[in-house]
Amino acid sequence: MSESRAFCPRCGDPVPDRSASDADAAADPLRPGTEVELCDSCYFDDFDFIDAPDRIDVQVCARCGAVHRGNRWVDVGAQDYTDIAIEEVSEALAVHVDVEDVAWQVEPEQVGENTIRMHAYFTGVVRDTPVEEQVMVPVKIARQTCTRCGRIAGDYYASIVQIRAEDRTPTSEEVDRAKEIANQVVADMEATGDRNAFVTETSETDDGLDIKVSTNKIGKKISNKMVEEFGGTVNDAETLVTEDQDGNEVYRVTFAVRLPPYTPGEVIDLADDDGGPVLVRSARGNLKGTRVTTGERYEADYEEGNSPEARRLGDLDDAVETTVVTVEDENAVQVLDPETFQAKTVARPDYFDPDAQTVPVLKSRAGVHVLPDSDPDTGDEDDDGYYDPYENDG
Ligand SMILES: [Zn+2]
Ligand SMILES: [Zn+2]
Repeated sequence: MSESRAFCPRCGDPVPDRSASDADAAADPLRPGTEVELCDSCYFDDFDFIDAPDRIDVQVCARCGAVHRGNRWVDVGAQDYTDIAIEEVSEALAVHVDVEDVAWQVEPEQVGENTIRMHAYFTGVVRDTPVEEQVMVPVKIARQTCTRCGRIAGDYYASIVQIRAEDRTPTSEEVDRAKEIANQVVADMEATGDRNAFVTETSETDDGLDIKVSTNKIGKKISNKMVEEFGGTVNDAETLVTEDQDGNEVYRVTFAVRLPPYTPGEVIDLADDDGGPVLVRSARGNLKGTRVTTGERYEADYEEGNSPEARRLGDLDDAVETTVVTVEDENAVQVLDPETFQAKTVARPDYFDPDAQTVPVLKSRAGVHVLPDSDPDTGDEDDDGYYDPYENDG
């Protein structure tokens, strides 16, 4: 190595020549204009391996563990306050840019309910010289309530979804499903980092279910999903509730979901129709079902939609097993009347199994009708949870 003619600009000692290709020869970005580097001795006089604050104050939401950074609350996914302290220390400590192979370990020391002393030990290499430094930074935790938790605690909501049904109250299945959908919509939004998605309250009322949610978007999603699954309609209406600090009007949106009058599994008798009662299969779009006299499909026309005029006769669940006495012909079968136990000739639908000893029948104002077997073990119950007599066909 040839000795250069360069000298330390501070002490005047000669410093080794560093070739242009040597990365170390680049001018120090912190001291632009420095063309000649300090000698090792002067360099290390100034060298500060770790830049640490005297202390770190961190605001943590006592309810959800979110941490306040800048001007907003951030979910850091910390398990406890020590986790948060480690997170904040690693954010706050700065390591000198020249140091390579930096490694560090940290030992938290709880010194009070809200103070954790972080003992951090750093090692690294600079100018081929191993360096190490130990720092202690106290982390002060201030327990607060984040905006979201404050809103939840204050029963804040921006939107109400009202689950109602036409000419009836929603079934427990519909109510349970609405709650499930609400939680799922919120969970999906939270998963994308949305801190403002929450269900404020669900309350069952005499005529259905009310779901209060934190944003209009959530209300819209829940109501659309309900209609998609169960049929029916949704109407939204805005109500002016207040003005915010900036004088902007704040509206609350009510989404009124109106589920169709008839639900899958119900048996209805259509007005002005002599085709026999219909077992409802679907109320999405036009009402669809199966004639319990013949087994033929039924679909309401466009004008009737999901609410043709009809009487309710009963439900699949109301059916009772009764004995098959004899099969008369392709249109008729004799069964025991479930109430009088007298043999009775009734219509034979095509789903009737001629080998069956017993069949489920519904006795109603319209007479006795053989229903399809709804035993879930036979696979009649499809994934949507409602009966589909065509599912196992062919
Ligand atoms: Zn020097
Ligand atoms: Zn919180």
